Amino acid sequence: MRGMGGPWRSVGGMGRSFGLQRHMDSEDLPRVPLSKAQLRRVTRYFTPYWLQWIAIIVCIAATSGLGVLPPLVVRGILDDAIPDENARLLQLLVGALVAITIVSGLIGVLQSWLSTKVGQGIMFDLRNHLYRHLQRQSLGFYTTERAGEIVSRINNDVGAVQHVATSMVVSIVSNILTLVATLIVIFTLNPWLALLAVAVVPTFYLPTRIVGRIRHRLSRQTQEQYAEMVAFMEERLNIGGMLLSKIFGQTTADADDFRQRNRGVADLNVRQAMAGRWLFMSLSVFSVAGPALIYLYGGYQAIRGDLSIGTLIAFVAYLTNLYRPMGQLANVYVDLQGALAIFERIFDYLDRTPDVEDKPDAVALEQVRGDIRLENVSFSYPRSPYAAIVNGDTPTPKPRPALEEITFEIGAGERVALVGPSGAGKTTITYLLPRFYDPTEGRILLDGHDLREIKQESLRAHFGVVTQDTFLFHTTVRENLLYARPEATDEEMFSAARSANIHDFISGLPEGYETVVGERGFRLSGGEKQRLAMARALLKDPRILILDEATSHLDATSEHLIQEALEVLLKGRTSVIIAHRLSTILTADKIVVLDSGRVVQVGSHAELLAQEGLYAELFDRQFGDALSQAGR
Ligand code: ATP
Repeated sequence: MRGMGGPWRSVGGMGRSFGLQRHMDSEDLPRVPLSKAQLRRVTRYFTPYWLQWIAIIVCIAATSGLGVLPPLVVRGILDDAIPDENARLLQLLVGALVAITIVSGLIGVLQSWLSTKVGQGIMFDLRNHLYRHLQRQSLGFYTTERAGEIVSRINNDVGAVQHVATSMVVSIVSNILTLVATLIVIFTLNPWLALLAVAVVPTFYLPTRIVGRIRHRLSRQTQEQYAEMVAFMEERLNIGGMLLSKIFGQTTADADDFRQRNRGVADLNVRQAMAGRWLFMSLSVFSVAGPALIYLYGGYQAIRGDLSIGTLIAFVAYLTNLYRPMGQLANVYVDLQGALAIFERIFDYLDRTPDVEDKPDAVALEQVRGDIRLENVSFSYPRSPYAAIVNGDTPTPKPRPALEEITFEIGAGERVALVGPSGAGKTTITYLLPRFYDPTEGRILLDGHDLREIKQESLRAHFGVVTQDTFLFHTTVRENLLYARPEATDEEMFSAARSANIHDFISGLPEGYETVVGERGFRLSGGEKQRLAMARALLKDPRILILDEATSHLDATSEHLIQEALEVLLKGRTSVIIAHRLSTILTADKIVVLDSGRVVQVGSHAELLAQEGLYAELFDRQFGDALSQAGR
């Protein structure tokens, strides 16, 4: 990128370490012609506010109409009141000048109130639309997109749209109206002088087009780089990223990386501002040339007595009314191109159809037994768009599917343990059951219904998920628990917490259930977070439970508390557990052994142990020593 202070085109803040190259030369960026389809799409957001728009246009028409009066009043003062020595007329005209300014000022206030409200309204709608749309995206979207990038588009890009709504539209309308009114008046006053004034107009066009293109390109680049900078900050300036940065001694390198990104954004902003300046400069040359010509030609006419001094002065005053709107209109075209580039980035998100969607005839399941059946399920993760960036033109080998032809059953109320080496596909199965992804092939049935025939919300209402890495919001314990079921009573909440063996701990906190848990629950220990997650799941009381047991070893007391909580949680539910604890494996009704995305064994612990196979091998490796020490 030119003028960027070095080639830092890395993605994910990893340029320094992993060398991911992102080629974003300005030439690669698509030009945005002001296509009708696109304008129509943009205007769709404006139409709900048509009533306000009419009021705004009325206000603008009134101020534009009032705007052409002062030069006429001045002409009256110079040509009539003063030569006729008419003091009464003089007072009247001067009073009119003052009144016009006050009235148009008041209308201006009303108009800016209206347009700000409309602008904020459009932004409100767009943000909501985008948020709802992003919520519908499958997990695939969030594993490939960077969090900061998403926030930046909602925040920064949508924010930029407000400028279009308020200043740009208002500027277009008001400038056109002022221009028309001025043209009518000057052609009525003196057609030849008016023609002369208008003659310089076509020369506005060329610089406008050139600057328009540059501005558009810079605007898109700025938004992209800004998004990268925000994404970088989001990753680094949170507890997880900061821990990593400090532990690996990368704080200075990160600061340098940030400085470069920051510099990139700053440089681009300067270039963008300067691109506009050149336009203003060229326009200001014309705004001097105009009055000069008028004084020259009008002056000769005045000397010959064909033109009054008042008309000449009024004419020059009208030139400002002519050139200023023209300059601003030229600028609006430039801004419009920039704004369209931003709209494009928003539409890019809105155009992504979610991988997982409800069918129009999807059914809602009120009650479920919890019978699950996987039939020939294969699944490959969607490929990340960054893969192309990392590898450039080199085609990447197709990764093996995460799951291949998986078939097994989980009876209602059964406890099924998933076992297998790392990367075998255990977590992937737990993603497919609540339909975070759809199988690439095969199908999954819940009580005989294909998951794709069930409304997602009604499906997930029956699932509870407790993962290893408990996610908590930065809010109170109470709010975190009630997230599972906002309408739950205090008694229900306490009871869930008691069953999860966490009530006493919470009650012992300085502010009890009102204690804020800290960013992602960093103020709680691993065991406490797990029990909180169990209480949250208990409160939801789902028919089917997915549990990813923590691999980390806890002390005996904590382990015991969790074990007890787990028994309550699993009781009477269909449960699928990624098992790491011996007790879970021993009490499972069925164990499904996975290896490289395939089911290699299914059976009870005793059955599987009796067979020579992966299970016996894994079991021996993981628990053999402990059991022989305990005198198995
Ligand atoms: P572990 O016990 O280590 O958690 P697992 O058995 O749960 O492993 P999965 O997480 O299901 O394994 O992963 C199965 C395969 O899918 C692995 O090869 C993994 O690299 C791949 N994989 C997992 N998540 C993604 C993703 N979001 N995009 C692409 N591939 C993925």
